[in-house]
Amino acid sequence: MIANIKKYSWVLVPTIAFGGLFYPLLGLAMIGIMLGIILIGLFNGKYWCGNLCPHGSLFDVLISKFSISRKIPAFFKSSFLKWGFFIFFMGMFSRRLMNVMATWGSEEFLDNLGLMFTMQYLIMPTILGVSLAILISPRTWCSFCPMGAMGQIMGKLGNVLGINRTFEQRITINQPTECRECGLCANNCPLELEPYTNFDQENRFDDDRCIKCAECVEACPINILELKKRDEVTKDTVRRV
Ligand code: SF4
Ligand code: SF4
Repeated sequence: MIANIKKYSWVLVPTIAFGGLFYPLLGLAMIGIMLGIILIGLFNGKYWCGNLCPHGSLFDVLISKFSISRKIPAFFKSSFLKWGFFIFFMGMFSRRLMNVMATWGSEEFLDNLGLMFTMQYLIMPTILGVSLAILISPRTWCSFCPMGAMGQIMGKLGNVLGINRTFEQRITINQPTECRECGLCANNCPLELEPYTNFDQENRFDDDRCIKCAECVEACPINILELKKRDEVTKDTVRRV
């Protein structure tokens, strides 16, 4: 099921981003997408980004074939850009939403709202995201996507409230002592994270930027990585000392 969503959810991108220009109500699908990011974020951090996001699917399934695929420049991965862009995006989004709310009660209200979402969807993740995916690396946009940042914030909130303790999946290393430190997990991470350098006391990858795509799991030549919940940690897992 999730594999199929990963493979085909990119269809929603042209449907919303271009279809919404002609049928603005299509843009309202963005409300569902944002709610999905927030809710899933609370229980499972950035899982949406790596498994359910239509743009993530577009970058991975289609655009990756045309990407130059070079290293993501440090600037695009910086906290400065991510949080600065998040504040800019939310400010712009709030201002546009207030303008649309001024038409509340009118016949055009839903069309105006849908068109606002469509334009957000078209310009930022679609035009900018696809350009960066081709010119740099497929998931460059994901390093500073404001919706991904929202998922990260929700993941932190879920941690603070303790509501994701049971549900949250993380990359987990089953046999830390077996790790060859070959770095293949890091080399295959679309966000250029380094799982093998950063496991916590519970052998879980301690980086809330992780989108839980499990590319590193596939890449590990000795199969010691898994994406799993806390209570799925097997008895043979060797704990760090
Ligand atoms: S790919 Fe596997 S063996 Fe290599 S560094 Fe990563 S966890 Fe260790
Ligand atoms: S660390 Fe693994 S699961 Fe997380 S983003 Fe990188 S490849 Fe995906």
